[in-house]
Amino acid sequence: MPERLSYLIIGSGIAGATAAEIMRNEDAAAEITIVADDPFPVYYRPALKDYLAGKVREDKLWARPVACSMSGSRAWSLRMSA
Ligand SMILES: Cc1cc2nc3c(=O)[nH]c(=O)nc-3n(C[C@H](O)[C@H](O)[C@H](O)COP(=O)(O)OP(=O)(O)OC[C@H]3O[C@@H](n4cnc5c(N)ncnc54)[C@H](O)[C@@H]3O)c2cc1C
Repeated sequence: MPERLSYLIIGSGIAGATAAEIMRNEDAAAEITIVADDPFPVYYRPALKDYLAGKVREDKLWARPVACSMSGSRAWSLRMSA
């Protein structure tokens, strides 16, 4: 039986979201968990100033579908075991 790999990603910025997408593309069976203390879906940081200035709508901030929203949990420590 093929080995099923598990991945833990800390953070749901563009780096975390992209890492998860690449892992999923590479390994459809992998277990992927994202822990992120951000309560929002992945959003474009550079667009924040335009959003705050009222130049872009909120739905233009999201870099991924809103259905990908995170739970808002912070990782405080990580214990690695073999
Ligand atoms: C206002 C603004 C404008 C910008 N404009 C530009 C630009 O024009 N061009 C450009 O190249 N770059 C720009 N940047 C920078 C760019 O947004 C960052 O380089 C990019 O967001 C980095 O992505 P990241 O996923 O590595 O980190 P981040 O976007 O910082 O995401 C990290 C995530 O990890 C979470 N996290 C951190 N620690 C923990 C923990 N212990 N437990 C759980 N979750 C955790 C955070 O909540 C966050 O969601 C801008 C940034 C800002 C804020």
